Amino acid sequence: MRFLPVFLDLAGRDVILVGASEAIQNKCRLLLAARARVRWYAAPEDRASDGTVQVFARAPNESDLAGAALVVSAAGEPFDRQVSAWARARQIPVNVVDRPDLSSFIMPAIVDRGDVVVAVGTGGASPVLARRIRERIEALLPARIGEFATLLGRWRPRVTAKLKTFAEKRRFWESAVDGKIADAALSGRLTDAEALLAEALAGAAWDTGGSVAIVGAGPGDPDLLTLKALRAISDADIIFYDDLVTQGVLDRVRRDAERVFVGKRRGRPGIGQVEINRLVVEAARTGKRVVRLKGGDPFVFGRGGEELGHLRAAGIPTTVIPGITSALGCAAEAELPLTLRDVATRLTLLTGHLVEAGEVDWSGLADPATTIVVYMGLAAAANIRDGLIRAGRDPATPAAVLARGTWADSKSVVGRLDALPALAPRIGEGPALIIVGEVVRHSAPWLGASKLDEAVA
Ligand code: SAH
Repeated sequence: MRFLPVFLDLAGRDVILVGASEAIQNKCRLLLAARARVRWYAAPEDRASDGTVQVFARAPNESDLAGAALVVSAAGEPFDRQVSAWARARQIPVNVVDRPDLSSFIMPAIVDRGDVVVAVGTGGASPVLARRIRERIEALLPARIGEFATLLGRWRPRVTAKLKTFAEKRRFWESAVDGKIADAALSGRLTDAEALLAEALAGAAWDTGGSVAIVGAGPGDPDLLTLKALRAISDADIIFYDDLVTQGVLDRVRRDAERVFVGKRRGRPGIGQVEINRLVVEAARTGKRVVRLKGGDPFVFGRGGEELGHLRAAGIPTTVIPGITSALGCAAEAELPLTLRDVATRLTLLTGHLVEAGEVDWSGLADPATTIVVYMGLAAAANIRDGLIRAGRDPATPAAVLARGTWADSKSVVGRLDALPALAPRIGEGPALIIVGEVVRHSAPWLGASKLDEAVA
């Protein structure tokens, strides 16, 4: 670490700006937000003095720096060098924009959410990289985090007065920033949050109860996690995950979280739904923040509904966080529109298990404007073909098999419906989806746009 980050209180202090560039104008905005009194030399011509900014058309003299708390300059050479030397001689911290060599401090990229401010620096090496990092942090922070911080700040004197030991205070604040109080404040229910704070402080035991989030992990690519899902797995004490949850997603789980694999792997039976339900409830009852992490979306062929029912019956507070279901992830990756005006107006999601069990009413799927997506359907490829063609669907209807969608080794094969059983084995290991419908004709694999794809006549 080359520079020490600090937050300066500049309220009412004098800050000198030199130069008219856009960079200096941005600094002026920031300094005013921090309630500094700005003295601006060699300012833009159209800038007038007002209550907080004193504007000078001329360049500053050495003596103009007297009493300043900070100096920021972007006047260009050689004047910047002069300003830097004057400031250093007077022991005033100075920043010359884009010139770390002339600066005694540098300005970080910042995330500004009111009382919550995050500063990101790269030691002057790459402001653009700092901005990228800032964008990522920006995306991670809940929108109302600043209001939440302000609320907590307001309560601080009361909490300090009431709770005596450091440990008590820490436990109080930890429960406030993580639990129901945070949930209420961050979802905009500030009155509820205040009521919960009051209740907690009045001595009613503060929230140490466990909870469960049933979270959709999306089709595989960790960048397709929702922001809420990312937050849930970043905060979890324990996660129970299925076999379709990829390593890339697991890498984003909180490092200290316990990880329990509860899926099936390669023909080996899993631990079973009853046992999963039991483990999840048990973990929540010990006060843990539990994440039940499932591939795709929990409510699309993911048994999320059953698990939710069980948790409700057990009286465990539960939330559901949606994920991008594999049909949507795979379709987007293959540039395959699932509905398309004048081509497909209906979308049906099916499971191959029902097909194998002979429980699908094919007559309802014969309409050429229906797109059909079959999950877990590889073993049922021949039945799907037979059922659809018998119901009157054109044997020449295009079909696609999309495997390992959004994973690094995703693969797709396209061809005709009547060749579907020959397509399926070509994609290698699952998971894979079968998509049947005229829209496949508009997809990247059909149009030959991707080298990975194969077409079977
Ligand atoms: N809840 C999940 C589906 C679970 S069922 C979801 O919403 O996606 C498991 C089936 O999902 C697999 O057999 C396969 O058909 C499909 N699947 C899941 N992830 C997939 C992926 N990355 N690529 C292709 N198919 C996938």
